[in-house]
Amino acid sequence: MKIKNTDILVLGGGAAGFFAAVSAANQRPGTHITLLEKSARFLAKVKVSGGGRCNVTCGEDDPKTLAGYYPRGGRMLSRLYFEFGPREVKHWFESRGVRLKTEADGRVFPVTDSSQTIIECLTREAVRQNIDCIPGADAIQINPSESGFEIQLRDGELIRASKVIVATGGSPKKEGLIWLKNLGHEITEPVPSLFTFNSPGHSICKLMGVSVPQALVKIAGTKYEYAGPLLITHWGLSGPAVLKLSAFAARDLAEIQYNFTVLINWNGYSRSEWEKSLDKMMSEHPKKQLDNISFCGLPSSLWKFILSETGISNTLQAGQLGPKQYNKLLENLSGFTLPIKGKTTFKEEFVTAGGVSLDSINPKTMESKTCPGLFFAGEILDLDGITGGYNFQAAWTTGYIAGKNAVIQFVENE
Ligand SMILES: Cc1cc2nc3c(=O)[nH]c(=O)nc-3n(C[C@H](O)[C@H](O)[C@H](O)COP(=O)(O)OP(=O)(O)OC[C@H]3O[C@@H](n4cnc5c(N)ncnc54)[C@H](O)[C@@H]3O)c2cc1C
Repeated sequence: MKIKNTDILVLGGGAAGFFAAVSAANQRPGTHITLLEKSARFLAKVKVSGGGRCNVTCGEDDPKTLAGYYPRGGRMLSRLYFEFGPREVKHWFESRGVRLKTEADGRVFPVTDSSQTIIECLTREAVRQNIDCIPGADAIQINPSESGFEIQLRDGELIRASKVIVATGGSPKKEGLIWLKNLGHEITEPVPSLFTFNSPGHSICKLMGVSVPQALVKIAGTKYEYAGPLLITHWGLSGPAVLKLSAFAARDLAEIQYNFTVLINWNGYSRSEWEKSLDKMMSEHPKKQLDNISFCGLPSSLWKFILSETGISNTLQAGQLGPKQYNKLLENLSGFTLPIKGKTTFKEEFVTAGGVSLDSINPKTMESKTCPGLFFAGEILDLDGITGGYNFQAAWTTGYIAGKNAVIQFVENE
């Protein structure tokens, strides 16, 4: 069995692990830093992120506003963003030659539109800082020792380190985190976040590809409701409003095995606004067939679908709408009922909610409360954001803070 020594050992070669390693190295050049990645490839998620373009962070800079984009961990992150937030991340990459652009919706990408640009930047930085990056190294156990830690790898190798930063990403199952629970950390049950809603066999799926810019989507019987673009797919619903709902309701939806009902207000109008619009349509076009009317900017196929679901003939004239039909139409415009059975992974981005509880760490340093000298960064922690670059931002920030604080302990002893 080979035994190796290092000052700082980073477990996990993803966004958080790389950023922790290079941040530690930047703080104290000459520190021996080793980064272990269990798979053959470093930064694999960065590669596929944002549809291959890597939505590296967001345009928003106000820490308090940013907190609202994290269903879990927002409070802690907003404090850390005063020290190292999106502005600092953009500066970090730009000062290392990565040109970034902010799109109209606030998402930030490299101008190359290629995640490879981010991978190359982080890899260059790791090489420049002499970080020992080892692929195919799966850490299975951390044992505190007199001089720090002994880390057991699956292949039998043992590594001694003064400090350890765990950045092994989200674990889909609680059992995957037992090695950290054994060190006294509280583990919050992992559940998926950022998914789309399935409505198998429902006639709405025939409208796949149709979208509305400002729907209000509610989960019936709960407090969860979000407004934003909504996309109808061949399996059900997607789009920002649905992804946001899936993130904020992630834990509750897991409990009911993703069987629930959504209520869709197609334009997010109040009931009286819909009434006014219907009254206007009836008085302005009493003789026009309903299917020939462009109503409230709704896509024509969606308008015809709503009429048909209401049991109203497309050929009926607007002025002939009876009171019962009128009321039912009003219901289907302001709260269309759609049964949801199951979820589908959103291919652009998905994350795990849950993991190492934030109660188990010092929120200013990312250091374990039960195991001094051990730090955490990234998705392994019980924090996650909605789509828009917020998850990488959390990984860069917690990586930076963990790296900096791990190395500070060497500086303090000098
Ligand atoms: C398809 C997809 C697209 C995404 N797109 C975006 C986006 O555009 N913008 C955004 O903000 N977020 C995006 N995300 C979310 C983002 O990728 C994650 O939040 C982020 O990668 C978390 O970084 P991490 O370093 O904590 O974890 P990871 O990236 O998961 O890295 C952890 C690493 O640790 C390794 N590891 C695990 N266990 C061990 C072990 N025991 N020993 C050694 N190594 C280990 C893993 O193999 C992995 O490489 C996307 C996610 C997915 C799945």
